[in-house]
Amino acid sequence: MNKLSFNIISKLNFDKELEEAKDKIDRTILDRYQSIIFDLDNTIWNCFTSRGESTGAYKTEPPYKLQSRGVVVDIKGNIIELQEGVQELLEILDLTDKNLGIVSSGEKLIDVNRKIGLPSAAQPSVMLLKKFDLYKYFNLGVITKAFINKREYIKGIGKVLFIDDNNEQIQNVNEREDIDVLNRKSFNNWNDLLRKIY
Ligand SMILES: [Mg+2]
Repeated sequence: MNKLSFNIISKLNFDKELEEAKDKIDRTILDRYQSIIFDLDNTIWNCFTSRGESTGAYKTEPPYKLQSRGVVVDIKGNIIELQEGVQELLEILDLTDKNLGIVSSGEKLIDVNRKIGLPSAAQPSVMLLKKFDLYKYFNLGVITKAFINKREYIKGIGKVLFIDDNNEQIQNVNEREDIDVLNRKSFNNWNDLLRKIY
């Protein structure tokens, strides 16, 4: 196969993927928004200690190892597990040109009293997003900030949807009239968001 025909096939494959992604998102709740902002812990992934207790991604430590698709283990044996369907969904959202961002309170601090955190690139959550190869999707940025009131940090283009599992943050963000909020606890699986609702 020469390079030209290879390029044509790549283009055809991309067109097909794009068409399929558009069909999947069509008439779903996500179709109504231009920007979607996600929380991390217990929203797109779940973290456990080696003893199976729930923990936060900010408490994990590099180096990270991809154990299987969607499962990363850190040096202490903590396990970070992507929620079912989230990888596929992010890919669909990216293909359909949605603007995606992360606003998380999971920040690793180097000075707790002065609330000084590690630089972004060294934040466990950022490193984990890169390890899962998801970081590339978040064109609106990845914010990790301890003691955050998320209401003040959510920015999007056009109509914005925010998805989080924390009741306090949900209530806070709900006060912003320009943002719709979806409780992560209101649906079981990320595939549920691809139901045709209108
Ligand atoms: Mg959370």
